[in-house]
Amino acid sequence: MKLFFSAAFSIFFIFSSMAQTPEEWLTKFEKTSYLETARYEESIAYFQKLADASEYARMFTFGTSPQGRKLWCIVVSKDKAFNSVNAKKIRKPIILIENGIHSGEIEGKDASMILLRDILITKEKENLIDSVTLLIVPIFSVDGHERFRAYNRINQNGPVEMGWRTTAQNLNLNRDWVKADAPEMQAMLKLFSTWLPDFFIDTHTTDGADYQYNITYALEKYSNIYKETGEWVKEKFTPFLVRRVEEQGFLIAPYVAFRDWGKGFESGIVDWAASPRLSEGYAAIQNRPALLIETHMMKPYKNRVFSTMAALVASIEYAGDNPSELIELNERADLNSVKQISVEKEYMPVELAPTEKVDTMLFKGFKFENQPSNISGATKIVYSDENIDLTVPFYNDVHSSDSVSAPEAYLIPQEWNLIVDRLLLHGVVVDTLKEEREFNVTKFKFSDVKFAQKPYEGRHRVNFKFETFKEKVKAPAGTFFIPTNQRTVRVILHSLEPKSDDSFLKWGFFNSIFEQKEYFESYVMEKVAEEMLANNPEIKKEFEQKLAEDKSFRESPDARLNFFYERSPYMDEKLNVYPVMKVE
Ligand SMILES: [Zn+2]
Repeated sequence: MKLFFSAAFSIFFIFSSMAQTPEEWLTKFEKTSYLETARYEESIAYFQKLADASEYARMFTFGTSPQGRKLWCIVVSKDKAFNSVNAKKIRKPIILIENGIHSGEIEGKDASMILLRDILITKEKENLIDSVTLLIVPIFSVDGHERFRAYNRINQNGPVEMGWRTTAQNLNLNRDWVKADAPEMQAMLKLFSTWLPDFFIDTHTTDGADYQYNITYALEKYSNIYKETGEWVKEKFTPFLVRRVEEQGFLIAPYVAFRDWGKGFESGIVDWAASPRLSEGYAAIQNRPALLIETHMMKPYKNRVFSTMAALVASIEYAGDNPSELIELNERADLNSVKQISVEKEYMPVELAPTEKVDTMLFKGFKFENQPSNISGATKIVYSDENIDLTVPFYNDVHSSDSVSAPEAYLIPQEWNLIVDRLLLHGVVVDTLKEEREFNVTKFKFSDVKFAQKPYEGRHRVNFKFETFKEKVKAPAGTFFIPTNQRTVRVILHSLEPKSDDSFLKWGFFNSIFEQKEYFESYVMEKVAEEMLANNPEIKKEFEQKLAEDKSFRESPDARLNFFYERSPYMDEKLNVYPVMKVE
């Protein structure tokens, strides 16, 4: 019971001017004593009403969900810069706030309603938009939002009813940022690459342990993001965010992951770099800082909405107080990423791991005990409502454990246009060869190919070993040519380098290249093998050596015949070879 009632009454301030708000502008959340959230239609109608009532706001749609719902965005600008071209021209930071990527975690939508009302209608917070352009997506996973019921989040304390974690196609949008299978994500990427926000915010509710913090955050700052942006996050933005959210009455901490979940916070807190399939990791490879907000699931919904609002307000304040700092930082991030990765061939990390280096942090937890459980037969964690403030190890040093280097360009044969369609969504510029051209390329050949046993996000992922080889190729007209000398260089490498965990290859887009489609009949192969043995002393020597040394080979008639097939001109030269080539 403690779970739902004790932490509920920590003191916090309510920033909404609810008392002076005209009745017609109260949100469903406010009118239900902060217990309920509005359905899709009612939510969108509220944002539309805000846009209709203010000369500073416009609503527009940027896509349609698989169940036919519109995806909406509201743009707020005192300069009435309601499209991306004008918004970039006025040189005020563009902040994109995206809510409801997991639409059971919907604080951000309710916070955004109140925030915009206080900016546009009561004008109590109007000064927040003096120096920024706001883009707010009220609900991203709109179909998920309408899978609405009380039992969608077992760990979560309100609202009374809520949406579901995934889309109608059962895809988790927050694993889809690079592969972009969901129509909703394809629409979001177009929105993202068109507006190219200077700062991005993604709002969630966390799962995991119980502790005192109302809200936790994550921002990329290791070598998966442009170095200076990481420093800005660490030294400038994060201290400001923490101070301002605390000033507004909420406890805030870095995203909480224990080093050993069995031992809890005493084992230490671990930080990591987000992979680009996640929102903040994706913004990083677009050279943009992003804030992931995770309110604590056990805190009452009211507390979670207002702590989310505090973090939104703090972020807008920082950007508004330092408008040229952020815009110029992002311009340098774009220019220098190209210079360092594409021109100077600096290695770009594709895998990052925490090191053993350890710092400390003060952790505000709840006392807990491990008690025997008759239900599970193991032990159970029983939290008390007694606060414990303890200095714990903080593993906040993350280093590159694998990296790649950029070619001058990638070549993609025209039959793999699906890959190019996805790259275009990310804002990648793709050229097409008008006539045949010769290139010196590096190719990849895979071995030890292993497929995942179960689907993950609707795909069978694949792992492999590979070797590279160089070749001179004639690329026909129609071949796609993707120069790396462009601002999306990090996106290009993460999408196309086989080693990258978010490459289209590892996500299974190229699985057909691993299928052998022609086979020999043994009695035919026998004759071909005899001729090869008679005419090719090197093959004869290799065969005899393998017979002598390799027992399983010696005892397998198929393997022995296949030895000759693989070395014959009949073998499929494209089997296990990556169609994407690196132009050196
Ligand atoms: Zn979430």
